[in-house]
Amino acid sequence: MIIAVDGPAASGKGTIARALARHYGLLHLDTGLLYRAVGMTVARQGGDADNPADAAAACAFPDSLLADPALRSEEAGPLASRVSRHPQVRAALLERQRAFAAQPGGAVLDGRDIGTVIAPDADAKLFVTASLAVRAQRRHAELSAHGNPVALEALSADLAERDARDMQRADAPLKQAQDADLLDTSNLSIDAAVQHAIALVDARLKSRH
Ligand code: C5P
Repeated sequence: MIIAVDGPAASGKGTIARALARHYGLLHLDTGLLYRAVGMTVARQGGDADNPADAAAACAFPDSLLADPALRSEEAGPLASRVSRHPQVRAALLERQRAFAAQPGGAVLDGRDIGTVIAPDADAKLFVTASLAVRAQRRHAELSAHGNPVALEALSADLAERDARDMQRADAPLKQAQDADLLDTSNLSIDAAVQHAIALVDARLKSRH
């Protein structure tokens, strides 16, 4: 069984995807980390994330980089978003994601184009969203808890810019798949959001059998 979870930055999709993986006993891949690894590699190589050749050259990063905490920093998000616009980068990361999705035990993948491009035949698809204000608040609380406070206005502007870039790119833009269920987490606690997600997936699985 394959579950696709897509949505904008800080919508709660990662938390929900991990909880679904636990609930259904599936492995989970945070595909954003792959783009973050490419973005950080370009930066460390002194390249330009907006340059397709520099970004393509960074796709051969070592697997060990995926465990680097720097990938989860605020700096890595916009770099990931910039390299992810290049079709060469998306093509280089495609097979890896498809292979993960196709493993015998099944999988949960979260990202921006899982339900539309990576796993269009997924058994269940969720599009997780939340208002910009709520997403900025959540990111702010998370960073503050880690002793790294960033001004709320700056976070909100960064998220809005990243979403716009992700939605407007020509190749595999962020969008809800036609057969995806929408889950707006703006007014939901984490527990409530996870319960809703499980109910939506259960309903999809039932309708398939
Ligand atoms: O989900 P996360 O914030 O880690 O993703 C970082 C960036 O990677 C996104 O803003 C997006 O540009 C890119 N991305 C993508 N396709 C995916 C996952 C992430 O383009 N499947």
